[in-house]
Amino acid sequence: MLILEIRMKIVILLGAPGSGKGTIAGRLVAQDSAFRHVSSGDLLRDAVNRHTPFGHRAEGAMKLGELVSDDVIAEMIKDYMARVEGECTLLLDGFPRTVVQAKILDQLIECSDAELQAAVLMDVADEILFNRIAGRRVCPQCGAGYHVETIRPVKDGICDVCGTELVTRKDDNTETVKNRLTVYREQTVPLIDFYSERDALMRIDGVGAIDDIVERVKQVLA
Ligand code: AMP
Repeated sequence: MLILEIRMKIVILLGAPGSGKGTIAGRLVAQDSAFRHVSSGDLLRDAVNRHTPFGHRAEGAMKLGELVSDDVIAEMIKDYMARVEGECTLLLDGFPRTVVQAKILDQLIECSDAELQAAVLMDVADEILFNRIAGRRVCPQCGAGYHVETIRPVKDGICDVCGTELVTRKDDNTETVKNRLTVYREQTVPLIDFYSERDALMRIDGVGAIDDIVERVKQVLA
């Protein structure tokens, strides 16, 4: 049997919409270039904006806050993993989102020079999730995330990184958010048991100052 040397570590960031997965991943990448932030939502939004065939298949479900079909997302992640160069740790944000996707990820890991390091669950109460999502703003150009109260850009409404005007995500409206939280509970929460049974689950308190949360994540990954 061919034994590949491990080149890629996989860290799954688990948590509800608004639990801070993207923000924390962004901070970790800024601090250490060995981290790569892989946001399935960003990959899909990019495909929708570029009108690719995957984008066409994803757009309807995304508008409603439903999940995009497993084969679309699996193909995009597989493609991303195949293109990654050098030794690194992939921070998976938003994938896997179902047990079926977790099994697909197992297969992708088995067929590559990667290993699962941990699934980090960001624990955040529901009322805080709603507040975070309501105030969330994103840069449509570079994907940087902000919040009207807690993560303000230097110049109001303008991205610090690339100077583009910030927007509210189309699926951050109240109705869609409610549905995304329901979908999370029904389809993603079972992953907590899935990774717990493999002794891979690390639970952290996702509330507090961002720097403190980043430190908590770094501690469980050390
Ligand atoms: P996010 O940016 O992670 O909140 O994802 C935004 C939307 O993209 C979700 O509400 C889904 O419609 C879709 N999406 C993102 N990741 C996945 C995934 N792993 N499986 C299915 N749909 C996804």
